[in-house]
Amino acid sequence: MADNMHRRAKKSLGQNYLVTDAVAERIVEALSPEQGELIFEIGPGRGALTSHLSASGADVVAFEIDKVLAEELKREFRDNGNIEIVREDILKIDFDREAEKRGKKKYKIIGNIPYMLSSTILLGIPGWDGSTRTVIMVQKEVAERIVTPVGERNCGLLTVFLQSYLNVEKVLKVVAGSFCPRPGVDSAVLRFIPFRKEGAPADRMLYFAFLKKAFSMRRKKLRNVLFREDTAAKREGAERLEILSGVDMSKRAENLKLDDWFNLFSSYVEMG
Ligand code: SAM
Repeated sequence: MADNMHRRAKKSLGQNYLVTDAVAERIVEALSPEQGELIFEIGPGRGALTSHLSASGADVVAFEIDKVLAEELKREFRDNGNIEIVREDILKIDFDREAEKRGKKKYKIIGNIPYMLSSTILLGIPGWDGSTRTVIMVQKEVAERIVTPVGERNCGLLTVFLQSYLNVEKVLKVVAGSFCPRPGVDSAVLRFIPFRKEGAPADRMLYFAFLKKAFSMRRKKLRNVLFREDTAAKREGAERLEILSGVDMSKRAENLKLDDWFNLFSSYVEMG
């Protein structure tokens, strides 16, 4: 069976299948699936997580882009009334709309996702309004960066953006040997729970664009990153922003706390 998995796995779709069942079980446990609740699975592959989800009695909708896999999964789960397999590209899916179609407002999301989709999918999480909990596997280094406390050295754009809207925790490390074919890197499973943080910007897109700019030269002082030309207007702009926001503009992006980011962003927007 492992040989078969190897031969057919498509690298372009990030097809590394989880083959250690105890790990699959622990990942699903991290989601705490409950009878009757709606769960969306991203990239079910050969059903490693899907079968544990099915056993929980939750209503599972699993989106798989690969036609052959989707057909196989449909056959495998045809007698499980609580499993719906949809052949679709996850990037085309609006989870809130999918939930509404099924008469639900709230849902959970789970996925051992292809690494090349990690950033795109992670960035979408704060915008999934009905999501109550998300459990996603990513490359170990990406996971470590995301859970780094905001204001510490390893923190980056994704760290600040995600932690502005969600509580994030690393629940499990998964070694490369748990997959077939074996990937070149280890993985980790993250759990995201929405959390309304005082002062978090309502305009997430604009906030993200601002953070992207601020982190574009992470070793430089913020005043030089946010106001690039060396002119009197720049110096004045940086000074005004410092007074308005109360944030020291000689700091670097990685040194700011969450409240600093919220203040800096709202003052930056206010300045126009
Ligand atoms: N969840 C399975 C497991 O743990 O063994 C499979 C994991 S594998 C890393 C990723 C899966 O996502 C593959 O089955 C792949 O075909 C699927 N996939 C890749 N791109 C996708 C996309 N854009 N939309 C939906 N599924 C996708």
